[in-house]
Amino acid sequence: MKEKLKAILLFGQPGVGKGTQGAILGKVPGFCHLATGDMFRGLDRDSELGREFLKYSNQGLLVPDELTCRLWRQYVQGLIDTNKYLPGADVLLLDGIPRSPAQAETLDEHIEVLAVIHLICDDEEELVQRMKRRAEIQNRPDDADESVIRRRFEVFHAETARVLAHYDPSLIHHVTATGAPSRILLNILEESVPAMEGHFGNPLA
Ligand code: ADP
Repeated sequence: MKEKLKAILLFGQPGVGKGTQGAILGKVPGFCHLATGDMFRGLDRDSELGREFLKYSNQGLLVPDELTCRLWRQYVQGLIDTNKYLPGADVLLLDGIPRSPAQAETLDEHIEVLAVIHLICDDEEELVQRMKRRAEIQNRPDDADESVIRRRFEVFHAETARVLAHYDPSLIHHVTATGAPSRILLNILEESVPAMEGHFGNPLA
C-alpha cells in the first residue's frame, strides 16, 4: 500500500448502529465498508488467530493493537487484490477501527481520513437493550452477557473515546443515532458525501 487510502471513519459506542449503517452504505457504489468486528468473526474459530480473538472479545476487551492492525492491513490488501475495493474509485468506510489512539497512529501510515462520522446516542441503557436483542439474532457471545456488554462500554470510555482527539476537529461530524434508521442514514450521507467530493474523479470522464 503506497498511496494513502481515502477513508471515512464510522465512530461511536458499541451498539450505536455503525454496523447497520455501514452495511447499507457499503452497497452504494463508491463506498467499501470494512467492519473489523466482521473481519475478526470471519476467522476460523479453531485457528490460533480465531482463538486469540475470542479470548479477548468474550471478555469485552479489545484485541491487542499490533495484531488488530496487522490483520487489518492483510484484510485491506486482500480486498484490493480481489477487486472488491478500488482505492482510486472507492472510499474506505471503516467501522470499528481505530479503537485506540495507538491504532489511529498506525492507521495514519496507510489512510487519509476525509471525515469521522461520530454516531451519538446518550442513552447507554438503550444501547445495552439493543445489544441484548442483537445477541439473540446474531448468536454473539460478547453481546449475550450483560457484564461483558458493560465491560465494552468501560473500554469504550477508557480507550476508544480518546481516538476522537487524534483527528482535526474540522473532520469530525456528530450525527444523532436515535430515531428511524433511514433518517440516520440521511444524516450520515449529508455529512460524508461533501467530504468525499473532489477526492475521486469520474472514472468514465
Ligand atoms: P460493536 O459493533 O458492538 O462495537 P464489533 O463487532 O465492532 O462490536 O467488535 C466486536 C469485538 O471485536 C470487540 O469487542 C473487540 O473484541 C474486537 N474488535 C473489533 N474491532 C477492534 C479493534 N479495532 N481493536 C481491537 N479489537 C477490536
